[in-house]
Amino acid sequence: MNAANHATAYQDTQLLIDGQWQDAAGGRKIAVRNPATGEVIGHVAHADIADLDRALAAAEKGFALWRDVSAHERGAIMRRAAALLKERADEIAALLTQEQGKPLVEARGEVLAGVGIIEWFADEALRIYGRIVPSRKIDVQQLVIKEPVGPVAAFTPWNFPINQIVRKIGAALATGCSFLCKAPEETPAAPAALLKCFVDAGVPAGVIGLVYGDPAQISSYLIAHPVIRKITFTGSTAVGKQLAALAGQHMKRCTMELGGHAPVIVAEDADVALAVKAAGVSKFRNAGQVCISPTRFLVHNSVREAFTRALVAHAEALKVGNGLEQDTQMGPLANPRRVTALTALIEDAQKQGAKLLAGGKALGEKGNFFAPTVLGDVPLSAEIFNQEPFGPVAAVRGFDDLDEAIAEANRLSYGLAAYAFTRSIKTAQLLARRVETGMLWINQPAVASAEMPFGGIKDSGYGSEGGPEALEAYLISKAVSIAAV
Ligand code: NAD
Repeated sequence: MNAANHATAYQDTQLLIDGQWQDAAGGRKIAVRNPATGEVIGHVAHADIADLDRALAAAEKGFALWRDVSAHERGAIMRRAAALLKERADEIAALLTQEQGKPLVEARGEVLAGVGIIEWFADEALRIYGRIVPSRKIDVQQLVIKEPVGPVAAFTPWNFPINQIVRKIGAALATGCSFLCKAPEETPAAPAALLKCFVDAGVPAGVIGLVYGDPAQISSYLIAHPVIRKITFTGSTAVGKQLAALAGQHMKRCTMELGGHAPVIVAEDADVALAVKAAGVSKFRNAGQVCISPTRFLVHNSVREAFTRALVAHAEALKVGNGLEQDTQMGPLANPRRVTALTALIEDAQKQGAKLLAGGKALGEKGNFFAPTVLGDVPLSAEIFNQEPFGPVAAVRGFDDLDEAIAEANRLSYGLAAYAFTRSIKTAQLLARRVETGMLWINQPAVASAEMPFGGIKDSGYGSEGGPEALEAYLISKAVSIAAV
């Protein structure tokens, strides 16, 4: 497949307000660049306050309507949207790769995973049950009614432009909420194509909205606005703390899916080949720009050399290139600031005594390419062992006993994802109990299925974007007691 064949398909992105695709009232636009070439490939509309006010009025109207649509009908519309997304997967994947950089195969995988997640939430819409609670008086009936929380403001990042929205819109629409999303300005076209599937599937005007612009201006305006009843954000811990504080000030419910710094514990009795394959695939997927990416490799000293050698071979064999080219296994970083951040982290680690075993630098003359990197003997004081790298860097250090590895896994304030490799059930159970994390995968790469909780603890946020917990976050429980007269 020729990269140039896809480049023509990219179009400018508009706002979606009250069922209408439109430019911003003030006509402002932001340029969108292809991270593989650095070229401007299109523009996205930049909303002003006047646009936000219209989007909020639409969300209020949309909620009044959607909350009274039956769960069967809501689920049916969502399933139609999922079918359209599946039908358009190739087209949307090409947009996603051009604006975000990931290889087409990953982009297509993201879109198809989104299909499955929407279908799962559509099915769950039918299982939002209330309760009848035995009363202390025979003539009183006590009910617990589940109701949608109200219009939701969602803020989503550029690393998974489709799936970061899908988990939020799926839960919001299934529960009967309206949904106003500020999607990423760097990667706007794929989110718009996703929302178009819902519009074309018959979601009524106002129920979903899409805006772009100045993230801080939009979030402070929407979170404070009385129409909005729930906030959901995926992004960095620093921004998440600001938005959660604002939500608290206005007493709004919120879900925060924030940064992580996932430990990978490779125990003495691990299947080393499996560990390298599983953690290697997870590590370099989406060029490491994944909140659950394995980042701190803690390897038992008896297998450290074999593990590190194989991980270096894995990293060096990866084909880095434009995601539109068929044989590319790792694309560029999504924006130039990640290249700067990674370069600084690697330099710092080396200064502190870490060994550069593979990669370590930006690649090529244009675009944000970075070599898959492996660092060995990384000291705990190195920035990379403390700050989320969010890039294709594996930092490895050895350990002698499991308690030491568990203590290191739990040392940071993050608690999103963790991985472990061991043949011992006893070790697996111990790790399941003692590692402070929202998600733990043992002897496998990350599999983020819709039916399992997805979310972090500690500074990695709160709330879940998977499993029944994901719907609960969009529901209120109303206690109703009816006395017979
Ligand atoms: P950033 O903190 O500037 O932005 C992260 C995301 O938050 C972006 O989508 C941005 O548009 C949005 N954002 C920033 N300020 C905002 C505000 N005031 N209101 C609403 N949204 C706001 O970081 P970045 O350089 O874009 O990304 C790098 C860091 O972000 C990484 O280190 C990683 O921790 C984090 N991140 C995490 C995820 C995730 O999946 N949890 C996704 C993307 C980025």
